[in-house]
Amino acid sequence: MTALLELEDVEARYGPVQALHGITLEVAEGEIVAVLGANGAGKTTTLRAVSGTVRRSGRITFAGKSLRGGPEAVARAGIAHVPEGRGTFTELSVTENLRLGAYTRRDRGLKADIERLAQWFPWLLERSNQQAGTLSGGEQQMLAVARALMARPRLLLLDEPSLGLAPMIVREIFRIVRELNEREGLTVLVVEQDARIALRTAARAYVLEVGRVAVSGTSDELQENESVRRSYLGY
Ligand code: ATP
Repeated sequence: MTALLELEDVEARYGPVQALHGITLEVAEGEIVAVLGANGAGKTTTLRAVSGTVRRSGRITFAGKSLRGGPEAVARAGIAHVPEGRGTFTELSVTENLRLGAYTRRDRGLKADIERLAQWFPWLLERSNQQAGTLSGGEQQMLAVARALMARPRLLLLDEPSLGLAPMIVREIFRIVRELNEREGLTVLVVEQDARIALRTAARAYVLEVGRVAVSGTSDELQENESVRRSYLGY
C-alpha cells in the first residue's frame, strides 16, 4: 500500500509551548490508524498539524503532494477533521450542519449524499429539522462524523470520538467507522484515549509520549506486548 498521508519530523508549538518534537508517521490509503497516548502527549496537536490549525514545521505529504496552508486549503485537498468536542453548530438544524460540511464542494447532489449517509445514520433523515444542540451526545458525535463525510474526504481525521459518551455508544461509533472503512474504503486517522477500542478498530497505531512517537506497530503487536500495554496503554 502507498502512503496517503506522511508526516516527517513534524514539530508544532503554541507560543512558547512546544507540543510536538518531531512526529514521523504514515497512513496508507484505505487504512485506519490510531494515535494513542496519555493526556497532553500531543495527540490532538498531531491532527491539528495535519489540518493546519496549529503552527507547525517539518514535512507533511498528502496524496504525493506537500500539504501546506491553513484549514481551508487542507479541506480542499480532501481532508476532513472532526475536532475534539465535535464542533457541531448547535443552533443550526441537522440538515444545515450537513450542508455546511459540504462547503468545499462545488457540485450539487447534497440531497443524495445525505440519503447515502442515512444508511449509516438513519436518524439523520427523521431528525433533519431538529436543532443540533438538542441531540444526545452520541448523536452529536455521529452528526459531526456525517458532516465531515459530506465533504467526500479521502482522509478523515477523528479526534477522540469516545469523549464523554457511554461505552455502548462508543462501540456503535467505532463500528460505523470500521464499516465505512471496509465498505467505502474510507481512510481514517483517529486519536483516542480508549486504547482498547481504538486497537480493535485500527490496523496500526502510534503511541505518543510528550510530543514524540514512543512505540508503533500493528494493533495486534501492541495488544500482545504486555510491557507496552502496561506502560502506555493503561490496561
Ligand atoms: P488530551 O488527551 O488531554 O486531549 P493530547 O494528547 O491530545 O491530550 P494535546 O492537546 O495535543 O495533547 O497537547 C499537547 C501539549 O500542548 C500539552 O502540553 C498541552 O498542554 C499543550 N497545548 C495544547 N493546546 C494548547 C494551547 N492552545 N495553548 C498552549 N498549550 C497547549
